This record gives sequence, structure tokens and C-alpha cells, in this order.
Amino acid sequence: KKLGIALVGLGSYSTYQLAPALLETEYCYLAGIVTGTPAKEQIWANKYDIPKENIYNYQNFDNITNNVSIDIVYVVLPNSMHADFSIRAANAGKHVICEKPMAMNVKECDAIIKACKDNGVKLGIGYRLHSEPYTQEVKRFVREKTFGSINYISADAGYRSMSNPEQWRLDKKLSGGGALMNMGVYAIQSVIYGTGENPTSVSAQEYSTRPDYFKETDETITAQFEFESGVVGSIMTSHNVSGNRLFASCERGWFELDPASTYIPLAGRTSNGKLDFPQESQQKLQVDDFAKHILFNQPNKAPGEMGKRDMIIVEAIYESIAQGGKKIPLDFPENYGFGG
Ligand code: NAD
Repeated sequence: KKLGIALVGLGSYSTYQLAPALLETEYCYLAGIVTGTPAKEQIWANKYDIPKENIYNYQNFDNITNNVSIDIVYVVLPNSMHADFSIRAANAGKHVICEKPMAMNVKECDAIIKACKDNGVKLGIGYRLHSEPYTQEVKRFVREKTFGSINYISADAGYRSMSNPEQWRLDKKLSGGGALMNMGVYAIQSVIYGTGENPTSVSAQEYSTRPDYFKETDETITAQFEFESGVVGSIMTSHNVSGNRLFASCERGWFELDPASTYIPLAGRTSNGKLDFPQESQQKLQVDDFAKHILFNQPNKAPGEMGKRDMIIVEAIYESIAQGGKKIPLDFPENYGFGG
């Protein structure tokens, strides 16, 4: 049986990436929708053949507990709503996929993880790259020390936001922060799976060149990481600078993905030559991997604990900035894994 997924929040990511991907998935399909916009109900029902009883709004969402055709709830709302809907989904007895960044802060991550544990449901974060072949290859380089040990890793994740000063991503109440919350988590992920280690400290700086546009959220942040093995790490994330890259300098060569975290197509090179993998929808691979975790107990490639680890780092970066770039030690209470 294919597992039924309900998407909560039918904005651009659901509309242009997740719903089309769910037409191609082998182990799950788009069975339901949860929307605050009544006009979307009929459009989606027609397009994806969704029966009326599988359509919910934000108020009656909790009734989903009685709906046996929904196995997984996928939360694709502004960041401030992730915890509320993930916890309600878990309490309704549904497995949960929560988009990145996992929540507004570490406390909310803990509450989501607890709700999923208490209800005996699985929790995955929308970190699609853990199912993507170029990223798997980077993890293999790290695991097998293809280029020897790594000396330096850097990651950029940014774009130039111009068009809409009213968007929720620039509203701190809804986003929890700017570039770091939106794109910075990709750069944090890159330096971790690109080394196979969690960092032991971080120091960070914030730059603001368009304060008229970025009124309450961070525009550009750079941060430096230390790792136990001695690797040096550096990230840049921005809502004003374009860049999407992972680069590692190693004992015997180097590897690079550029772009490293866009949807399609990623590309990569190493000191041994170009990388070349087939392009498939990352979202298709990601949700199928999560379904296989539920159905066949295969590894959870992006568990809630991983989303929480990244939020610990996000909080430390903001703390470092608040303290004028002071080095903040990072101590993770659990081993959160690197995504297989
Ligand atoms: P979007 O603005 O396109 O859509 C947001 C949706 O939430 C809309 O349907 C909107 O109606 C609804 N919504 C409900 N309450 C709202 C409110 N108070 N203000 C604004 N919108 C409200 O955003 P998106 O790009 O689809 O992003 C949604 C989530 O998905 C975010 O957490 C984002 O970080 C994540 N995302 C992840 C990826 C990825 O590659 N994994 C890509 C894009 C977005």
C-alpha cells in the first residue's frame, strides 16, 4: 500500500515542488490537503483528484485523526507555524515531515520531538539533499577519505531578495530570522556532512547593506567553525548575495558542489574530474525515503534530532553576533548523525 500524505500549506514549495513530486513517488502519494485559503480547495481537488473528506482547514485540521487514508502530515508553512502543526499532527497519530528550518528555536524542536515520541510516530525534516546523489557522493568522499583528511570546508547559501518587502521571510514573527534561518541551515548542513563531524565552536558576524529592505531580519551572515579533528569551516549565508556552493580542501585534492543545495540540477567537480549523476526530483527521493523508513524500517535520513542540532547552531550564531563575534562553544547532548 502507498502511504497517504497530506500537505499543510499550499504555498510555492507545495505547489511547484512537492505536489508534482508526489505524482512520481512509489511509496506514497498526495492524499489530502490542509489550507487556510478556501479558493485553493477545488483547484487542488480537481488537479490531484483529492476527495472532499481529505480536505481540511487550519481550524478543523485535528479531525484528521479519524482519517485512515492519511498516514503522513507534511508541514510546509511559515516557520512560526511548524511547531504548532507538527505537534497537532503527532497528537492526531500521524507521522510528520516538518520543513526546514525545523522551528523558531531549540525549545520548539524539543517539543516537536517529544510529541512525536509520545505518540509513537516518525518525524523527518524536509532536508531533501540527504536523498540526492551528489550529496551522497560527498558523504562517500568523507567516509572513505577519498582525498585524504579534510583541512578546510566552506559553504555558501544565499540569493538576492529584491521583489517583495512584505514577504513572511522578512517578518521576524513568522520567520524567526532572515538568511540564516532560510538558507543558512543549508550551509550548516554542508559543513557537517562535508566533514562528517559536528562543530565544536562557532564565531559569527552580521552585515547589513540594505537596512531599508531588511528591517528586522538578518541580511548577510558569515561564521567560522572549529571541529575536533582540526578542520576549519566557514559559511556565508545571505538574502542579498547569490551563492550556492560547498568546497572542501583536503590532504590529497579537493571536491566541490556548485550549486550545492538548489533543487535541480546540482553539479560537482573534484581534483580527479567532473561528477556526473542522473537528475531526479529530490523531493520525490526524499518523501519516498521517509515512506520507506515507515514501511520497511529503513534509516531516517533526516530525523528531528538533526533539525534540532542545526537549530542549536543557529542559536549559537545569533548569540555570537550579539556578543560581538565571540567564540561560542558547541556541545551536543546527543549524537545527531550525519544523514547516512
Ligand atoms: P510560501 O510563502 O510560498 O507559502 C506559505 C504558505 O503558508 C502559503 O500557502 C500561505 O497561504 C500559508 N500561510 C499560512 N499562514 C500564513 C501567514 N501568516 N503568512 C504567510 N503565509 C501563511 O512559502 P514556501 O516557500 O512554500 O515555504 C514554506 C515552508 O517551506 C518554509 O518553512 C520554508 O522554509 C520551506 N521551504 C523548504 C524548501 C526546501 O527546499 N526544503 C524550499 C522552499 C520552502
